[in-house]
Amino acid sequence: MRFAIFSDIHANLEALEAVLADARQRKCTHFVCLGDVVGYNANPHECLERVRELDCPTVKGNHDEQASVSRFPTDFNQLAERAIKWTRDKLTEKDKQWLRDLPFQKQVRDFTIVHATLDTPEQWGYVFNNLDAAASFTYQHTTICFFGHTHVPMVFIRDEGVRRELIDHVRIEPAKKYFINVGSVGQPRDGNWRAAYCVYDVENNLVQQIRVKYDLATAQKKVIEAGLPRPLAERLAMGR
Ligand code: ZN
Repeated sequence: MRFAIFSDIHANLEALEAVLADARQRKCTHFVCLGDVVGYNANPHECLERVRELDCPTVKGNHDEQASVSRFPTDFNQLAERAIKWTRDKLTEKDKQWLRDLPFQKQVRDFTIVHATLDTPEQWGYVFNNLDAAASFTYQHTTICFFGHTHVPMVFIRDEGVRRELIDHVRIEPAKKYFINVGSVGQPRDGNWRAAYCVYDVENNLVQQIRVKYDLATAQKKVIEAGLPRPLAERLAMGR
């Protein structure tokens, strides 16, 4: 059994399709989505359709939340806010209901999924350091939890203490705990423009961080043609 686990698609259809094609080529049998299907880029409805077609376990991200309610966006910078207002107009009522119904966290077989943190998933905190990760580990009752939100792939391991590792494959040992950020499909922010996701090979106790090239030029062109802020197109090429 091989899971493809992906997050932060952010309406980038070219990146999502490249990831799904790559996952199928790697013989992934199951899919899991960690939220933020929409926001920032130009194909929110189409990305939602693709994820819905997979009929896979999915949790809610902060952009999914903001896009599916009508109140003024809070805690969003100007670019994110403009994109959310644009996104709301592009989603159907059915899309919004689907987003509103997503849970904040979920257990899938023997692992947990969440968008931001396990200690207060609905507050959208960012886990970048060992202290942030330690707070989540307190609430983690499975060996592995996958998360997203920061758009930066990284692995936190808890045994004696908590440490952070920037590694592209993790051998899972049952005595330890793992809090694994799968990176972002549609707007990576680790300086690498390629779409990120993880493959979890259950039988071999192995988690791999994968990067995939996609049609960046088309995704950028769509952002500009949609009238979305130009910096949202430019940052895709920088991985920022
Ligand atoms: Zn995001």
